[in-house]
Amino acid sequence: MAKVAFIGLGNMGGPMMLNLLKAGHDCAVFDLSSDAMKAAGEAGATLAGGPGEATRGVDVVVTMLPAGKHVRGVYEGEGGVIENASAGTLLIDCSTIDVASARAVGEAAKAAGLPMVDAPVSGGTAGAAAGTLTFMVGGPEEAFVAAKPFLDIMGGTIVHAGESGNGQAAKICNNMLLGITMLGTCEAFMLAKRLGLDAQKLFDISSKASGQSWSMTSYCPVPGPVPTTPANRDYQPGFAAAMMLKDLKLAQEAAAQVDAATPLGSAAESLYSLFCNAGNGGLDFSGIIKMIDGDA
Ligand code: NAD
Repeated sequence: MAKVAFIGLGNMGGPMMLNLLKAGHDCAVFDLSSDAMKAAGEAGATLAGGPGEATRGVDVVVTMLPAGKHVRGVYEGEGGVIENASAGTLLIDCSTIDVASARAVGEAAKAAGLPMVDAPVSGGTAGAAAGTLTFMVGGPEEAFVAAKPFLDIMGGTIVHAGESGNGQAAKICNNMLLGITMLGTCEAFMLAKRLGLDAQKLFDISSKASGQSWSMTSYCPVPGPVPTTPANRDYQPGFAAAMMLKDLKLAQEAAAQVDAATPLGSAAESLYSLFCNAGNGGLDFSGIIKMIDGDA
């Protein structure tokens, strides 16, 4: 069994760390939140006073933090992970962050002789608790091979997407597409309603026809056709609109850096900004149908 440092014990990191503990690994943990630390301690983790203290003497470091600046601070800062890691310690960042920060931290780790992967996830808090997350992994092949047994404990599907930063690239391309297809699906249901076409009828036809997408068949934004979706519980998340907006912003930032025109991604970012700024950031992202339908 390995010694693991786990830094960032929020909605995602908390349950991911618990799965590593349950698999028998020793976990040394750090989070700025005393409540998160208390819960981890009660579950059997060793509490550390900072990222450096958590990292000293471990085989693997896993981080699950809000954004690029937190990840850079925890890895590259004074008293941080890179400064305190022993030779050969494997570094796995599971946070969703900008591609440029992921590549910068990957370079800093490489310069220090430490194998590192970026491994953002999809699957949300339910997937984190169930250990069924999808991991999109960027980094050298040897680091991917070393990380896989740990990712297998926390996830169900683990894909190597290529060089450092490519995990983040895969995540934001996927979520930009998801935001766009969700908006298109919402527009189709709104138009159907105005044309007097029943939502269930549109679903029955479109879910088997060329308008089919995951947003339609697995995450239908109107109540009824797919009983398990957030639409059936007044759009309680699920995947919050604020998180979708975060990913759409990351996609736009990345697109600008490589001179890629993404007009639909840009429109999706504007629409989710409007929705979140109107106080709906905590609703599920499919709840944007309320705004599309003139109801939010
Ligand atoms: P969260 O806000 O619940 O947790 C983040 C944790 O990081 C908090 O407990 C916070 O105290 C801690 N933290 C912040 N700065 C720190 C520092 N310097 N040192 C130690 N701890 C620090 O967020 P979350 O929902 O767990 O999301 C984490 C990451 O996972 C984000 O990048 C998010 O985009 C991504 N993600 C979230 C979901 C989801 O459904 N929540 C789904 C996929 C990906």
